[in-house]
Amino acid sequence: MRVGIGFDVHRFAEGRRLILAGVEFEGETGLQGHSDADVVTHAVIDALLGAAGLGDIGQHFPDSDERWRDASSVEMLAAVRRTLEAENYQTVNLDVSVVAERPRLAPRVDAMREGLASALGIAPACVSIKASTAERLGALGRAEGVAAWAVALIDRMRSPELP
Ligand SMILES: [Zn+2]
Repeated sequence: MRVGIGFDVHRFAEGRRLILAGVEFEGETGLQGHSDADVVTHAVIDALLGAAGLGDIGQHFPDSDERWRDASSVEMLAAVRRTLEAENYQTVNLDVSVVAERPRLAPRVDAMREGLASALGIAPACVSIKASTAERLGALGRAEGVAAWAVALIDRMRSPELP
């Protein structure tokens, strides 16, 4: 088994949709970024790539590449799943902490867990998402953006069961 950590932060930007773990928060200010700026999914991607020793999100999905402009980050996550599977790895579980003064995430946490789980082909029970605030301290506390930390555990895939 191998473990990896990921971190990401994006600032709020007017005129953008807010997408977190593949879930759209309608009516909320979105985040600035080359892709859909899904900060939660980006942290998870970095944790998975880190666990596998396969570099980071910037190497796999460079900002300079027009292919990833406004790209869906959960589709990028599905691509990371395929990269891991090619190395014979599967995701065991994820644990994510999101720091955001707004919006309130709690009502959507189960949908966010399902968003990540379906991209990875694992059960939502294997995906934990915890929401907290920065207690009004610093840039995150002034609601200038959203940050996310993720830890991922991966394991070698079991060989198919013989009949
Ligand atoms: Zn990002």
